[in-house]
Amino acid sequence: MQFSQELISLAAAAETALAGRFAAIDAVAFANTDRVMDSFRAHRVSDSMFQSSSGYGFDDKGRETLDAIFAELMGTEAAFVRHNIVSGTHALSIGLFGLLRPGDILYSVAGKPYDTLEQVIGISGKAGDGSLADFGVSYRQTELNADGSFRTDEILNTLKTEPQIKVVFLQRSKGYLNRKTLSVEQIGDLIRKIREIKQDVFVVVDNCYGEFVETREPGHVGADLVIGSLIKNPGGGMAECGAYLAGTARAVELASYRLTSVGVGVEQGATLGQNKSLYKGVFYAPHTVAQALKTALFAAYVFEKLGYTVEPKWDEPRYDIIQTVQTGSAEGLCAFCRGIQKGSPVDAFVTPEPWDMPGYTDQVVMAAGGFTQGSSIELSADGPLRAPFTAFFQGGLTYESGKLGILSAAQMLLEKKENKA
Ligand SMILES: *Cc1c(COP(=O)(O)O)cnc(C)c1O
Repeated sequence: MQFSQELISLAAAAETALAGRFAAIDAVAFANTDRVMDSFRAHRVSDSMFQSSSGYGFDDKGRETLDAIFAELMGTEAAFVRHNIVSGTHALSIGLFGLLRPGDILYSVAGKPYDTLEQVIGISGKAGDGSLADFGVSYRQTELNADGSFRTDEILNTLKTEPQIKVVFLQRSKGYLNRKTLSVEQIGDLIRKIREIKQDVFVVVDNCYGEFVETREPGHVGADLVIGSLIKNPGGGMAECGAYLAGTARAVELASYRLTSVGVGVEQGATLGQNKSLYKGVFYAPHTVAQALKTALFAAYVFEKLGYTVEPKWDEPRYDIIQTVQTGSAEGLCAFCRGIQKGSPVDAFVTPEPWDMPGYTDQVVMAAGGFTQGSSIELSADGPLRAPFTAFFQGGLTYESGKLGILSAAQMLLEKKENKA
């Protein structure tokens, strides 16, 4: 690819300025790789665990061992990892339906959960479709403070006055919201305070986009159930599909009865030859997450210097892999996505166009040129066509390819500006 001299100089300046941050990211990746390899060694991972099972999948040693490895990495007593959980939303739905009963309250303490959970909870969608609300589970929500911190007093008061609260739910990553991502330390502080006044609630964390960004996970600071998708961080760009749930023995048991059926739980589940890619995925994950983080930092620096508002800024702390750039116009957002697409390994020749995505009020434009459909540990971007025309993007399997994608997006934006001038 050909880039302007301005961009080439800016890229060099970015890498000089970011050297310290990159070293810190490498140190986290090293510590997390050490944890992964310790766990592989302790569980005697061997070639025989990559065998395929069929039918009921009883005694699938590879599946059972990977469950134990995920539990260890997530800081929990138990876990299950399955290729046949179709998405993060599916995994979250398994967890919530596993824990909640009629009359219970689901309480979200970090504001609105991810869009796709609205229909699961029953705060949008049709009555009668089988949401939690249809089964008599109510919902409460407390917003975050403007600075992104928890409204701790309000949360503790609500827990005292509403004894039917069974699940305290929080989303670690900002997702596609305009808020800060929560650190593991913040999550741990809140859990400690909740435990002081109430022991019989399950704290459930939507961990999507957060895995391996720090050296601890929400399970290390007391979360009862931690849930995420394998086509994001913990699949390392290797897993073809799937998700995991990790938590206390009881929470995971209850969730497992929703995964399959009551009484069966994790005992069944043919792996159909998927074990090896899931093992490889978690082996790569700390490194791949580091590549995505470096790509995001590089983008933050470059676009900030080009005069765009970015979040987080390049010198701010980061607790997930998401980066936003306010492109300022519909054409800007489309140019940005065209650039990312052009700088992707697959479908680089395709031109993303805005479309009316079901369930969204504004048109949406997306760039996705990954090996796995919808995989967002691979470089991918999207944004709704409304002011301030923010591009949300994440991923990058290798820093080198991520950097090329970002430079390609920057080049498109610069060319668009010049054409206008
Ligand atoms: C991606 C994501 C989900 C849902 O995952 P899907 O695989 O798209 O269903 C839920 N929560 C957060 C924060 C996410 O980033």
